[in-house]
Amino acid sequence: MEVLDRIVVAIRKRPLSQKEIIKKEEDIIIVQNDNSVIVKEIKQKVDLTKYIEEHQFNFDLAFNQNNSNEQVYINAVRPIIRAAFQRAKVTCFAYGQTGSGKTYTMIGDIERQVPGMYLLAGQDIFQIIEMEEYTHLQVYVSFFEIYCGKLYDLLSQRNQIQIREDAKGNVNMINLMEKKINSVQQLMHFIQLGQNVRITASNSSNSESSRSHAILQVILKSGKTVHGKMSFIDLAGSERGADVQDYNKQTRIDGAEINKSLLALKECIRALDLNKNHTPFRGSKLTLVLKDSLTGNCKTVMIGNISPSSQSSEHTLNTLRYADRVK
Ligand code: ADP
Ligand code: MG
Repeated sequence: MEVLDRIVVAIRKRPLSQKEIIKKEEDIIIVQNDNSVIVKEIKQKVDLTKYIEEHQFNFDLAFNQNNSNEQVYINAVRPIIRAAFQRAKVTCFAYGQTGSGKTYTMIGDIERQVPGMYLLAGQDIFQIIEMEEYTHLQVYVSFFEIYCGKLYDLLSQRNQIQIREDAKGNVNMINLMEKKINSVQQLMHFIQLGQNVRITASNSSNSESSRSHAILQVILKSGKTVHGKMSFIDLAGSERGADVQDYNKQTRIDGAEINKSLLALKECIRALDLNKNHTPFRGSKLTLVLKDSLTGNCKTVMIGNISPSSQSSEHTLNTLRYADRVK
């Protein structure tokens, strides 16, 4: 079921958790086939009798609760990794509410030794690079997060990074750490390092990781020239964009910022799909950082993660509508 479009939109349903099963929460999501998802929304009439409203959506790919990270990787992500070796700038986004499976998709489950997209892509990259035609390429990694409109380097003690657009329209990140790597082990080492910095930071301030976008970039270079680039983005929880009503001022500011960046992202991907001349990159830091990866020879995979639980139906519908609008 491999899809080769410039933009691929996939939906991934996670299984009910033990907690949800114990609480007898209902699974209201049906992944009908490789392309279609149905939400059975439970609604109530004024006389309190319940009825079900069905919503059907179609996507390039739809993964059910039994599909593994390997299956997601092979069908949705591997094609863009190959494209990066063909000089493309590619991006894989994990979108969805907190708890829907974004980090499981990207990192996997370390305790249970389930690999995520980072490791699966890394293994492929270091296998492909062995091929005769690619031995001149070097691999670099950078890892940073965007929190409240500011960029923090996860590979150098969360130093703040400045971002500038030059006269030619190129976006430069000043002082962003780029580590040269020679193996998938080294890649995972830096990811672990960055992930720890991220977790420590979110524990010591009230900047939960669900409020920031984590961006991992793997860059293929030939000397100083960028040959191809891969960005993997664990987005802030999409429900955080709705926090704009919150009574707490900081939460409100964060929420507005997240909302702005997710809307700008949607508009930029749509512009790419419609081949528009004007793309609103400056709408947010997230889209500005990704400018080179959302123009020209680029490919994007958006994985919309959803929870199966009836308790999440509103957020699930929001995610499906967002994913539906992207393309
Ligand atoms: P998010 O990053 O979107 O907040 P997580 O990735 O942390 O969500 O997932 C929430 C919980 O659900 C975690 O305990 C995770 O291990 C589990 N989970 C998510 N997706 C899956 C899946 N496809 N299969 C099994 N467990 C999953
Ligand atoms: Mg997460």
